[in-house]
Amino acid sequence: SRTEDGRRATGGTTRPTVAVRPHPRPVPAGRRRELLAAPPFGEVFTDHMVTARWSPEEGWHEAVLGPFAPLELSPAAVGLHYGQSVFEGFKAHRRSDDRAAVFRPWDHARRLNASARRMAAPPLPPELFVAAVEVLVRQDMDWVPEGDDRSLYLRPVLFADEPHLALRPARSYLFLLLAFPTGNFFGSESRAVTVAVSEEYVRATPGGTGAAKCGGNYAGSYLAQEEAAGRGADQVVWLDAVERRWVEELGGMNLFFVHGEGERAELVTPPLTGTILPGVTRDTLIALAGDLGMRVTEAPVSLDDWRDGCAAGRITEVFACGTAARVTSVGRVLGRDGEEWTVGDGAPGPVAGRLSALLASVHRGETADRHEWCH
Ligand code: PMP
Repeated sequence: SRTEDGRRATGGTTRPTVAVRPHPRPVPAGRRRELLAAPPFGEVFTDHMVTARWSPEEGWHEAVLGPFAPLELSPAAVGLHYGQSVFEGFKAHRRSDDRAAVFRPWDHARRLNASARRMAAPPLPPELFVAAVEVLVRQDMDWVPEGDDRSLYLRPVLFADEPHLALRPARSYLFLLLAFPTGNFFGSESRAVTVAVSEEYVRATPGGTGAAKCGGNYAGSYLAQEEAAGRGADQVVWLDAVERRWVEELGGMNLFFVHGEGERAELVTPPLTGTILPGVTRDTLIALAGDLGMRVTEAPVSLDDWRDGCAAGRITEVFACGTAARVTSVGRVLGRDGEEWTVGDGAPGPVAGRLSALLASVHRGETADRHEWCH
């Protein structure tokens, strides 16, 4: 008895249980406080993780919270060889009443399952996903940092661990939920980032896996990201693979273009055509901008539109959004054939700032959660 979006209907199924086996030697409190003072992105994990297994006979079973520890894995595990592996990323935020609120876990459960479906892997019941999140955040609550730009990043991964090297979907899977404390991905939102268009590579093709959050999409983007970094940019800009003309997204964020200023500012973001990741932050900002009375259009934006729009002053701001970076302005674009341009005056823009502050206050429970996003 699940509602359409995977939420448990009232009076519905029994809650999945996750057995709790706490770490016998958690990180000492003093060391943990040191780590929380300057959390690096994805390097230092909390004391615990949740694991669950899937087999054709039992489905998902053996959900356990235990110590964060190395896995025992067959060298022939399918996930290692053929990349049958999908993941998610979302956050828990500490509030002034010292409780933690997880942002849109049901939507991340749904996207994980959409990715799993594309990779021919079994979906995880959203109730189990959310139960795992609740158990882990409760157990590692001391790892949820304080401060407006700090949070606990949650990383589920679902992958094939069956040892077999025939080319067919595996018959055994592992789900893991890890967590790590983090600050802003780019260090700070008060800096506008530089982005560089990849001239050589593409991220996703029609009919491909671009809309799935699968490991291979990221491995396939590293070379382009390295190239962008070599040009002095923070992130790579992906263009569509067919015409090499339409702006799709960044390496790990979706993009918004601001037309006009002040009361007349309007937002444009590329549509979900199957080749970009349907960002939960993208969806959140579309709703929040609407709440503020801003017009938002999902429409294709070409690289030429971007350059000419900036030159003519029609495009006043561009910002990136995602779980890791929240809302971060793009100040400079390194295009193709040596073309470069600045967005607005190259500094963080007011629309990005306003949306970022609003989103942060929803995270912290300081603004009414009218969309019921916080858990
Ligand atoms: N695009 C890509 C390629 C990403 O990896 C991410 C991060 N998950 C996003 C966009 C933003 O998605 P979200 O807002 O759900 O974090």
